Amino acid sequence: TERTLVLVKPDGVARGLVGEVITRLERKGLRLVAAELRTLTREVAETHYAEHSERPFFADLVEFITGGPLVALVVEGPRAIEAFRALAGATDPVKAAPGTIRGDFALEVQNNIVHGSDSPESAAREVKLFFPDLG
Ligand code: ATP
Repeated sequence: TERTLVLVKPDGVARGLVGEVITRLERKGLRLVAAELRTLTREVAETHYAEHSERPFFADLVEFITGGPLVALVVEGPRAIEAFRALAGATDPVKAAPGTIRGDFALEVQNNIVHGSDSPESAAREVKLFFPDLG
């Protein structure tokens, strides 16, 4: 079994899609092990997206992700990292397949509803960043 960090980003929370995202991942067979509604500080946002710090969209991305409450989830299951990324769909929601979260609910690359860790290393780092006390 494996753990991954999932975020329902501020656009997803504002649009009332928290239940939809949780329903889909639970229906898939993934299990929630932690959940919290919170507004990120700039510091946590910049740490979370450190790999994008040199990209032209970084400032906008940090504004967006700190711009309202998000829901942080730790999700567990067999190959949970890959399983959730398949549910989420491609980063660009226009290219994301219909039937995926992004494919069904989004049109803009920044406002793409969810985040899911992309490797075991980033999952470990992100779970620790968001839930340092989780056993
Ligand atoms: P996430 O890390 O959020 O799961 P991802 O791994 O599919 O997304 P990344 O390439 O890591 O995509 O980009 C991280 C986030 O940065 C994207 O989810 C999106 O919100 C934003 N982003 C990526 N590319 C762009 C872009 N060209 N313009 C604006 N925002 C972008």
